[in-house]
Amino acid sequence: MSASRDQRSGSKRKILGAIRSAGRIARIDLAKKTGISQATVTTITAEMLLAGLIHEVPSDDEDRNARRGRPRVGLALRGEAHTVVGVKISHQSLSIVLLDFSGDVIGEHSAPLAAAVQPAVDVAEQLRNQIAIAAEKAGISMKQVSAVGVGMPGIVDATRGFVHWSPSLTERNQPFQDIAQDVIGCPVFVDNDANLVAMAELMFGHGKNVQDFIVVTVESGVGMGIVLGGELYRGTRGCGAEFGHTKVQLDGALCRCGQRGCLEAYVADYALLREADVGQNNKQSSARQIAVLLKSARDGDATAQSIVNRAGRMFAMGLANLVNVFDPQLIILAGERVQFNHLYADEVMDSIRQQIVQIDLPPPDIVIHKWGDLMWARGAGAFAIHGVSDMALKDLGEHAS
Ligand SMILES: [Zn+2]
Repeated sequence: MSASRDQRSGSKRKILGAIRSAGRIARIDLAKKTGISQATVTTITAEMLLAGLIHEVPSDDEDRNARRGRPRVGLALRGEAHTVVGVKISHQSLSIVLLDFSGDVIGEHSAPLAAAVQPAVDVAEQLRNQIAIAAEKAGISMKQVSAVGVGMPGIVDATRGFVHWSPSLTERNQPFQDIAQDVIGCPVFVDNDANLVAMAELMFGHGKNVQDFIVVTVESGVGMGIVLGGELYRGTRGCGAEFGHTKVQLDGALCRCGQRGCLEAYVADYALLREADVGQNNKQSSARQIAVLLKSARDGDATAQSIVNRAGRMFAMGLANLVNVFDPQLIILAGERVQFNHLYADEVMDSIRQQIVQIDLPPPDIVIHKWGDLMWARGAGAFAIHGVSDMALKDLGEHAS
């Protein structure tokens, strides 16, 4: 690709992204916001209009008032341009959402997986079957689905949808994207699930107008998504951002990954329950057992308190390290487990502030975003929208010029 072609495709992405984050925006503001010349904005948006990706809408009232009644035409995404599916593969279940091109949810569905750990092709077949059910529930035919985004726990090279390792798959090194595309019959995009939470925050959530932010997910493990300059940062081998396996203690507690002293080995459910000496044969869900542990701590049980406090201190140290490395504008703590407030208690926040590099400016904001599996699935859907947009933008102008 020539430099100018490359530049042009960058401009197209920038423009589409700016329309998405604004919701509705006039051409002149689009040029200001992206720094792209008005002439180029006009040419590219004309192509997008022709391709049906965007449409013209009247500008909102506020804008009209400001302009003393002179109506301006705005541009917005055309929701019906594409339908995508987002799937979150959890420990024992699938959560599915259907989104239109503007990211609005048009259907939801959840189903159990046949087993927690399975061959890739079995997972792909269950994906196909449950997506078909989800589509039918939403009154959409499978033919209308432009792409599927899949969020999977584990180590994933998203550029080629290659799963180095996942707790959901029996085998390592699976070309899951290829396998799932064959089975489902449409483009599939696969990424690590925590990356997709960052993608959802970037597209729909707290990260919408933030250039540099970090999402830390706390579920049964600790994950992270890094957004730098408005783009998801994935590392070279697809195995960066493993915040849960950063070391917080030399020769420390044994982690599930086989190494010692990982943050997860102090903060994750299994670590807390191991310390509390709750037997693995306990029938209660780990979430329930954690709730009991936290209640004991609140009620003054010294052992429970020391386990919970240590988790908080280790978590604070980890977050302070992140701030010291990245200096982000914002940190978002996301996931279901953040319902348990021991990880963002006042003492934890104080401890972070004490351990970050001290300058005479306020520390980054830390916000809590509690969300369930369907929101994770929405992140996978956001990734599919991203993929579909790239494919559509690639086609743009191929015929025009
Ligand atoms: Zn580890």
